[in-house]
Amino acid sequence: MTNKTLLVTGGAGFIGANFVHYWLKNNPDDNVVVLDALTYAGNKASLDPVQDNSHFEFVHGNICDTALVETLLRDKSVDTIVHFAAESHVDRSITGPDAFIETNIIGTYSLLKASKKVWIEEPKGQGKDPVPHRFHHVSTDEVYGTLGPDEAAFTEETAYAPNSPYSASKAASDHLVRAYHHTYGLEVTSSNCSNNYGPYHFPEKLIPLIITNILNDKPLPIYGDGQQIRDWLYVEDHARGIELVLKKGRLGENYNIGGNNEWANIDIVKVVCKLMNEAFETDSALIQKYPNAMKASCGKSEDLVTYVTDRAGHDRRYAINATKTNNELSYVPTESFETGIAVTIDWYLNNQQWWAALIDGS
Ligand code: NAD
Repeated sequence: MTNKTLLVTGGAGFIGANFVHYWLKNNPDDNVVVLDALTYAGNKASLDPVQDNSHFEFVHGNICDTALVETLLRDKSVDTIVHFAAESHVDRSITGPDAFIETNIIGTYSLLKASKKVWIEEPKGQGKDPVPHRFHHVSTDEVYGTLGPDEAAFTEETAYAPNSPYSASKAASDHLVRAYHHTYGLEVTSSNCSNNYGPYHFPEKLIPLIITNILNDKPLPIYGDGQQIRDWLYVEDHARGIELVLKKGRLGENYNIGGNNEWANIDIVKVVCKLMNEAFETDSALIQKYPNAMKASCGKSEDLVTYVTDRAGHDRRYAINATKTNNELSYVPTESFETGIAVTIDWYLNNQQWWAALIDGS
């Protein structure tokens, strides 16, 4: 296979950065250009592990800037876009949907327009074949809506029923990607993944929020009754799934990626509390490093749990049926929840300088 040049949008975000680390480690001859606007969720420090790699380049810019995207596609000879850039936090989409419409819908449209122009129209104008290319769009299981406790998990055939401004904006972008394939022949694939967890996760999201609040002796806020169910996947397993879709997936298809690992939010919090208590019991150096951790709760982090008013329109349950991806692409997650959550907690305990800068008052 010839070497690829990937344009990774949103590569300074949680999954994008993990994907870039993964890709350069497993495909060392490929080139990766990250395009990221560095919003509050973007963090250049998340790309420190690849900063000195000669196959890596960072470009600070907005996916809505179509001219910039066109220039990058041409000048860097990009043949593959992996599109992560998005506004991704449901709570923020409820209080301020504008940015979600702008980045998730208009931004995706901008990338599609630029791809069509540079990869298909320009060569055609010169009497040539289109540039061999791939546009991979990263989406979420949230576009499928919510499930009752006994309903079957989402398949790729499940009708879209997004319930939040976030999921609605992602659904709109999914439809645009599909349309660019059917109407213009753009060579696309899409993947819809469940909740990710792992290193470099912004501390407003559930798992890093719980870990960092325990370390700062702050309440652990639980929405409603805490019985909302999500499927959880270790972030590197998401990166592996995308790699398989890029290498073996069929054009125009979308693939569900999941961990077959459903948990109620409150149970996730209990597991994290238990592992954090154990870490402090077995490693006395942690008490010196984090003198405020569980101070008021005397080493019992679960006492910090505080139930708060539920999120408006909160989806009750998401569950992913990834049979198509498992069968067609031989995809199996490598990390169990037990190993993945242990690695994640360890990472946060050892990388305070990364997350403390993102939290007020820590
Ligand atoms: P994130 O919020 O951590 O990162 C988003 C990144 O995109 C940031 O680096 C940000 O600076 C950048 N960005 C935002 N707007 C931009 C713009 N206009 N131009 C260029 N860059 C911009 O998000 P994440 O959790 O890493 O999610 C990445 C993708 O994966 C998203 O598309 C999301 O919908 C999808 N997804 C996330 C999850 C999850 O559990 N986090 C699950 C399934 C799918």
